[in-house]
Amino acid sequence: MEDYYETLGISRNATPEEIKAAYRRLALKYHPDKNPGDKAAEEKFKLLSEAYQILADTEKRQLYDLYGHAGLAGMDMGGFGGFEDIFSSFGEVFEDFFGFGGRRGRPRPQPGADLRHRVTLTLDQVLTGIDTSLDVERRAPCRVCQGTGLAPGTRPQTCARCHGRGQVGQARGLLKIFTTCPECRGAGSLITTPCQECKGAGAIREKKQVSLRIPPGVDTGTRLRLRGEGEAGAGGGPPGDLYIEVQVAAHDLFTREGKNLQYRTQLSFVEAALGSEVEIPTLNSHTRLAIPSGTQPGATFRIPGEGIPSLRGNSRGDLVVEVELKTPTHLTPKQEKLLKEFLKLSEQETRKAE
Ligand SMILES: [Zn+2]
Ligand SMILES: [Zn+2]
Repeated sequence: MEDYYETLGISRNATPEEIKAAYRRLALKYHPDKNPGDKAAEEKFKLLSEAYQILADTEKRQLYDLYGHAGLAGMDMGGFGGFEDIFSSFGEVFEDFFGFGGRRGRPRPQPGADLRHRVTLTLDQVLTGIDTSLDVERRAPCRVCQGTGLAPGTRPQTCARCHGRGQVGQARGLLKIFTTCPECRGAGSLITTPCQECKGAGAIREKKQVSLRIPPGVDTGTRLRLRGEGEAGAGGGPPGDLYIEVQVAAHDLFTREGKNLQYRTQLSFVEAALGSEVEIPTLNSHTRLAIPSGTQPGATFRIPGEGIPSLRGNSRGDLVVEVELKTPTHLTPKQEKLLKEFLKLSEQETRKAE
């Protein structure tokens, strides 16, 4: 499958603006209206649209960057069955680019995209929760021009091509088709003296440290949402959210089962037969567990309150200890003698019982 960045002829660290510009240029070139009956152009156009749909979406782009096409497997790609499909799934984009929707006036406010970050915790950290901070790179409103894109003290000029309407009419047969003004891209006005800081985009890429507290009890798959910490919106739209995806690393000693922890302890058959007291590690300390006489392999014992805290409230799960029996492999002559004696006694007991 073709690389989406190559399809659009852009570098892997292209900004959203560059992606949009590249798509706009190529989509206009290969648009079916301009290439009637040209199958190759139609295919190219579909590919472009697919690449744009992925790379313009922060979440999908991240998946694609991390895992390639495999990362998008199973995701609904809109099913490019034909141009009707493309136009309906790309409604907004095509309105923007080609004016098919016939909408008038300034671009409507668009909410900012959500961002995702992954945080990995150890089981010990799950017990207490952690305070951490993330370096988040995101689109933020330009502080110099307050997001307007205008150099301070200047005003936008009314677009001469569309006289401020944002749309231009074009006769096509009997119909007059209105399309978004190519000069001002539908804004109706033009920035003649762009803000130096953001080059007129109204937004900049910024790196910000976001501090957050991850509460005790999280598990792999837990998602935390930080409202308004995503990408800045456009045209006065609200910012997106920042999602934190939690991953909990495997532990050397314990296996997690929801809010319970499992631990396997090894006993000799003598300890199991006679009963014993063994030391059991817990997440932050250790405790002692009394093993009754006659314990069978696979028997389990619960140590209440030594599991994982619940995400809600302050109850804690249990530590479940499973007993494994180990058979001695190297016996001293004396041990062997005693065991043989033990065997003889057991056989006599059995015979007596019969
Ligand atoms: Zn600016
Ligand atoms: Zn215009």
